[in-house]
Parts: sequence; C-alpha cells; structure tokens
Amino acid sequence: MPFTRRDFTRDLASLAALGLAASAVPDLKAQSPTKKVGYAIIGLGRIADLHMQGIHESPNAKITALVSGHRDKADKYATKYGVPATSIYTYENMDGLRNNPDVDAVYVCLPNAMHAEYTIRAAKLGKHVFCEQPMDSTVADSHAMVEACKAANVKLMIGYRCHYETTNLAAIKLIRSGALGKVQMIQSAFGFSCGPKEWRLTKALGGHGPLFDVGIYCLNASRYLTGEEPSGFSAYAYSDPSDPRFKEVEENLVWVTKFPSGITASCATSYGAPTFGYYRVYGSKGWLQVDEAFSYQGLSLHAHYTRDAEKEADRTVDLNQPNLEKIPQQFVNEANHFTQCILTNKTPSSPGEEGLRDMKYIQQIYKSAGIEMG
Ligand code: NAD
Repeated sequence: MPFTRRDFTRDLASLAALGLAASAVPDLKAQSPTKKVGYAIIGLGRIADLHMQGIHESPNAKITALVSGHRDKADKYATKYGVPATSIYTYENMDGLRNNPDVDAVYVCLPNAMHAEYTIRAAKLGKHVFCEQPMDSTVADSHAMVEACKAANVKLMIGYRCHYETTNLAAIKLIRSGALGKVQMIQSAFGFSCGPKEWRLTKALGGHGPLFDVGIYCLNASRYLTGEEPSGFSAYAYSDPSDPRFKEVEENLVWVTKFPSGITASCATSYGAPTFGYYRVYGSKGWLQVDEAFSYQGLSLHAHYTRDAEKEADRTVDLNQPNLEKIPQQFVNEANHFTQCILTNKTPSSPGEEGLRDMKYIQQIYKSAGIEMG
C-alpha cells in the first residue's frame, strides 16, 4: 500500500517517541473542560499577530494581556481579542503581570537579542514562557534563560514551529520507516531579501545574520531528519561589500554539517537572495523533498523510493503530499502543545535546552566561517 496522508495523520502520536510532538491537536477540552490558560503577548509584531491567531483558535488558551511600546497597536489587538484595558502593559511596567491572576504564561515575540531579558523577567514573575526562536543572540544569555526558568519552576518552550507541523512530521516518519534506505546526504536552504530598515541587520538586536533568523531552520531540520547531533561543521560566509545592508551582519552563509553516522547536510542561508525554504534527503533507496518546508502554509512532500525492487509496480513509489492547512494551524498546534504542557505539568517537546543546543551549534558554524559570536 502506498504511504498516504491518512497514514501520516493516523500515526502522528507515535512521533512523540521521536522526541517531536504530534501535530494532532490534543483534546484539551476533555482533559480540563473549564480551565483556559491565559497568555500575555510581549511585542506585537508580525509573529505575534500569528501567535495571537493561534492562541485564539486553541480551545484552552486565551489572550489575557498585552505588553507593547505602542499603545495604539495594543488597543487594536485588545479590542480584537477582548483584552481589558487594565491588562495592557508597557515594557517598563510589565512587572505588574505578577499580580494579574489571568496571566499564566507569556509569549516573547521580540527581536532576538531581547529574548533573554524578557524571558528572565517573566520567569521571575512566576509566569511560564513561550519564546520565539532563535532563543536569543548569545549562548551565555540562552543558558541564563534555561537556568532562570528552572529556578522559578516555570516552563520554557522555544517556538520550533516545524516540530508541530504535519508535513515535517510526515517526512521524519517516512525516513524512520526506512523507506529511503540508509540516509546519506541532506541539502537545505532558506533565505529572503532583507529590507534595509530591519532590526535583523543589526548586531545589537539580531545578533548576527540569516543563520539566526532563517538558517536555523535548516540546521534544526538536519537534526530532526537524521535524529542525530552534529559532530562538526565547515562554513563559509560572504557579504557584498557594496551593499549597505551588510555592514554589521553577513549576507550569505553556507555550511556543511557532519553527523556521527557519516551523513552530511549541506545548508545555505541568505539575507540577499529569496530562497524559499526546502530540504532534500537522499537515502540508499530513494529521496524525499519538502518544498516550502519552513513556510506557514503550502508545504509539500515529494518522495521517490523503491519499495520492492523485485516487483515491477513497486520499483518506484512517487509520493506527492501537499499540506492544505490554513496559515494559523501551526500556531494553533504550538499553542495547544504549550497549553497542554502547562495544564498537565509536562515538559514541552521543544524546551529551552533544544534552543540552547542550536545556539551552541550556531556558534560553531560562525567560528568555522571566521565570525566571532557572543
Ligand atoms: P517584528 O519586527 O515584526 O516585531 C518585533 C516587535 O518587537 C515589534 O512589535 C516591535 O515594536 C517590538 N520591539 C520592542 N522593542 C523593540 C526594539 N528595540 N527594536 C525593534 N522592535 C522592538 O519581528 P518579528 O518578525 O515578529 O520577529 C520577532 C521574533 O520572532 C524574532 O526573534 C524572530 O526571529 C522570530 N520569528 C519567528 C518566526 C517563526 O516562524 N517562528 C517567524 C518570524 C519571526
């Protein structure tokens, strides 16, 4: 029988055993019919907008407070999601969240280098923390985030969207099923042309260049696709010296990751070239490719492999699985997962330690490219 989308969704629960959450929405209503976990959103930019849609659609989650430097923006979202004016905070008076009983947890949706400060502040207020990825801009600050959340006995989840996304989970399942044979090589890229006024182009807020922002998806994917931890990196960076955008951070970065089994992953990331995210995995019996692998929607998995070389019909299986989920679904899945972790006192599938691992690998990649990172 061909490997179908129904197989993917039916068996998602078994993916928990791989250390990745199933994207099947847990039945939170059945577990706790009345309790809604209340979330404060810190930073009301682009990703926050999507997370708010996700929380809004999640059965046991509710937006109960907003933290912003722009009152007009906060008022707009407060009206949309029914947040009382008394639960709108500025960055300066955010510590008032401590005494707000409607807030159980926060979402940190700020520029990279601000993640540690606000995660640690929220942890000290006794609030669980969902923090966007990359975890922060330095290894030391990322480590401090893990320690602060441990000390405060609050949960820390890093926003690795793809860990909760159906097509990526299906790709992992197909690889683990052995359909592709022994995995040998991976290729992946993700980039976009960064606008000249973006905080992403500054060291102070972005940390460094596209590896932090989008290359991290390729790095993390090579880890979840292989199920292995890297044993070494070789990297090369280049910036067009005539392009004023790249005075502080690199434009392009390519690297090869070596894994203990001998698998290699060749990855590329860019702030100069729009590169819709993809990966291709080559095994001894076939290959798979996920296009738009890191997008909010429109992901598609295409695979070609030999199931039984003896049977004519089974010489190649051509699998083309488009994901037709709507945009906020990945954000609903993340909200469901974090909410369930809070309600049932479980550790998130993408905890702070996962973010810290990537930060350490990012540091090694930069070192290989001759770039110093904090
Ligand atoms: P954004 O620029 O759209 O939003 C950032 C928010 O932070 C804005 O509301 C801004 O007002 C606020 N802010 C507070 N202090 C600021 C300061 N000093 N400088 C600039 N902004 C300040 O950014 P974004 O694209 O929403 O990214 C936010 C975080 O989310 C980043 O860490 C980014 O890497 C991450 N992100 C994750 C995904 C994902 O798919 N998981 C996608 C995009 C961004």
